[in-house]
This record gives sequence, C-alpha cells and structure tokens, in this order.
Amino acid sequence: MFWSFPLSEYVRQQSVFTTSRHLGNSFPDSRFLGRWSRGFPGPAMVAVFLMALSTLSGAEPFHCPDSRVVVLAETRIDQERVCASVASSKLVLETLGLKQIGDGAITIELLQVLPESDGSHAIGQCHYRSKRIEILTYDAAVAASMKYPAAFGVPMSKALWDSYVVHEFAHATAQVQFAPGVPTFTASEYIAAVAQMTAMSPLLREQILANYGDTTGFERESEVTELFYCLDPPKFAVMAYRHFRKPENGARFVGRLLRHGLPN
Ligand SMILES: [Zn+2]
Repeated sequence: MFWSFPLSEYVRQQSVFTTSRHLGNSFPDSRFLGRWSRGFPGPAMVAVFLMALSTLSGAEPFHCPDSRVVVLAETRIDQERVCASVASSKLVLETLGLKQIGDGAITIELLQVLPESDGSHAIGQCHYRSKRIEILTYDAAVAASMKYPAAFGVPMSKALWDSYVVHEFAHATAQVQFAPGVPTFTASEYIAAVAQMTAMSPLLREQILANYGDTTGFERESEVTELFYCLDPPKFAVMAYRHFRKPENGARFVGRLLRHGLPN
C-alpha cells in the first residue's frame, strides 16, 4: 500500500518556514516539510523561544555527556539512547563533511504524540529557530508503525528508530552550515537521508538496500527534487545514499549543497 501525501497538507506546510516535519509515506519514512528560516526574530520568534523553554512532556532536562544536546524524555533509558544516537552521529556527520554544531544547545524531546499533529503519521520534526527536535518515543513509534505500512519495507526497530534520531540531528547540524540565502529544503533532506542511512547498522542498511534492489542512485543533481522527496521519501533516501556513495560525490557533493543548496 502506498500512502499518498495529502496535497492540502503539503501546501500548508510550505508556508511554515520555521519547522521541518518528518512524516511517513509508509510510516515511518521521513518527510520534513517547511524550511529552516535564517530570518530574524520578531514576536513570533519570541513566542517560539518561550515555548522552547517549557517542556511538553514535563520531563527533566538531561544533558548528554560531552555535547550541547539536552534530552527531554521520561526515562533514563530513553535519555541515554538518544544521547548514544547523537554521539554515534558525530563520525557520520564528519564523513559527510559537516562541522559539529557550535554555540547553542539543541533540545531533543521524546513525545507520545507530536504537537500540531494533524493525524499524519509523523515520527519527528525539527523546529529550526528554537533549535528543538521532537521525536516519538520508541514505543509510540512502534505503535504508530502498526497502523501503516512499514517505511523502507522493514518493521520499526530500535536500530531504525535510532537512525531517525540521526536524521533529525543531521537536519539541525546542516542547517546552520548552509550559505546564506540558498534553498535548503531538498538539500537538507538529502543530507539527513544520507546521514540516516550511513548511521544504520550494516545489517539494517543491507536489508533496506535489498528491498530497493532495483533502485539506482540519483544520476544527476537535477533529479534530487522536493517533488521526488515528497512523493516517496524512503526511495529518495535510498537513492540519495547510493548517489552519495559514488566516488565522485561523497562529502564533496555535500559541500556543494551547503554552498549552493538545491533549486528544490
Ligand atoms: Zn528529513
């Protein structure tokens, strides 16, 4: 079954420039809608900032060791799991040529339901301005995955859930490294997808790649489009990963994306 994306939601999200949303095309694939605005704060920004200071879950902030990441989760196990995913992403992000996030903490909150959810099967979203990531708890992600066809053709697992943490964190890391004014939406999805696929355990990744055995990598930059991403995010991720792995692409291509973006 193919979950088709409601156009009305797509159009609505395009007007939301502060949030990148990760929805499922067969859950829990990724679909971030909206763009990270580099614009500057007005009253709306203040409101977002104030919202960021409160926690939706009421969980106590947990500071990941040796990082600027703060996790809001109900249990220590969840807190440490997110921190471990973030820690494991460092090498992956370096492989992509991304620098570590500098000033300013990132808050990652685990929730049973994502706020502003409209019934779409979203697993995570990133509020760029407030440097805040919201992700379903693993249990909530498993429950949601029972309702929809599995993304990538694999069941939800700890390893897959971990990869979504990396996906979100890659969005946050890349966003502050784009050159001013470049179109970032599709480029950010490419980077997040490659980071997610790279961070997966080899076993899981091979399983997914086998499920897309007849899918090649993108052949040309012009194929990496917002429309392609929105129509089939898991396939976009696989094609981005295979494109990235070609010797002529890799970190060099990511660097090009950071400098020039993609025309979406
Ligand atoms: Zn994404």
